[in-house]
Amino acid sequence: MIADGLARLARGEVLSDDWSRQVYSVDASHYEMLPAAVVRPRDAGDVQEICRYAFSKKVPVTGRGAGTGLLGQSLSEGIVLDFARHMDRVLEVGNYHVRVEPGIVKGVLDKELKKKNKFLPPDPASSNYCTIGGMIADNSSGVHCLSYGNTIDFVEELDLVYADGAAGHASRDRFDARMARLKALLGPHAGLIQNQLPEGEQELVRL
Ligand SMILES: Cc1cc2nc3c(=O)[nH]c(=O)nc-3n(C[C@H](O)[C@H](O)[C@H](O)COP(=O)(O)OP(=O)(O)OC[C@H]3O[C@@H](n4cnc5c(N)ncnc54)[C@H](O)[C@@H]3O)c2cc1C
Repeated sequence: MIADGLARLARGEVLSDDWSRQVYSVDASHYEMLPAAVVRPRDAGDVQEICRYAFSKKVPVTGRGAGTGLLGQSLSEGIVLDFARHMDRVLEVGNYHVRVEPGIVKGVLDKELKKKNKFLPPDPASSNYCTIGGMIADNSSGVHCLSYGNTIDFVEELDLVYADGAAGHASRDRFDARMARLKALLGPHAGLIQNQLPEGEQELVRL
């Protein structure tokens, strides 16, 4: 069983009992999907191990923050990674940047930033619950997005884990070899992709 394999390698909790799987089978959407197992990773290394294992078994992995997505994005029949339990730390607060783990709740981050008279501008109505990881994946916005912009406008760098467990990095100027290949593949078609997007969303494509 997939959960047994995960339990041998993951440092965070592995949940595979019926009750836990039921809890994670729903989010703020109308959909329902029963995951094979849920893992609460401790850190990026844990995420890598889990992804490596899932990839070798051809089991899909889906991230989950607070589960406030309205379209069932955090649901999966494979492995759900709950980032909100352990990977929720603020790592560094600078004057013009902050480094966080993906599971931190936006409202909690704002409390920390308030000590420096700052806040993270994108403000989805779910801000007291939703996580930065979920906001980045959804490119969340809020009532003030017309003046401040969306989440994508405030992401400078990402450390990421690919589906096969490899570590990656992406920022505007510095990215790993896979990201460079993706950019080379999509770059020549940026105009075409932009043209297919609704007006107002075209600037989201910046290749
Ligand atoms: C009452 C309510 C009000 C809302 N208001 C707004 C609004 O004003 N504006 C708006 O834009 N949205 C809004 N939303 C939608 C939703 O809250 C946001 O999109 C929110 O940012 C999702 O964050 P989450 O942590 O709940 O993510 P989840 O729902 O848990 O996940 C969302 C997506 O992110 C992915 N994900 C999560 N963490 C990671 C990670 N660490 N790595 C990779 N992928 C990850 C998931 O796989 C999924 O695809 C609202 C929802 C509710 C229920």
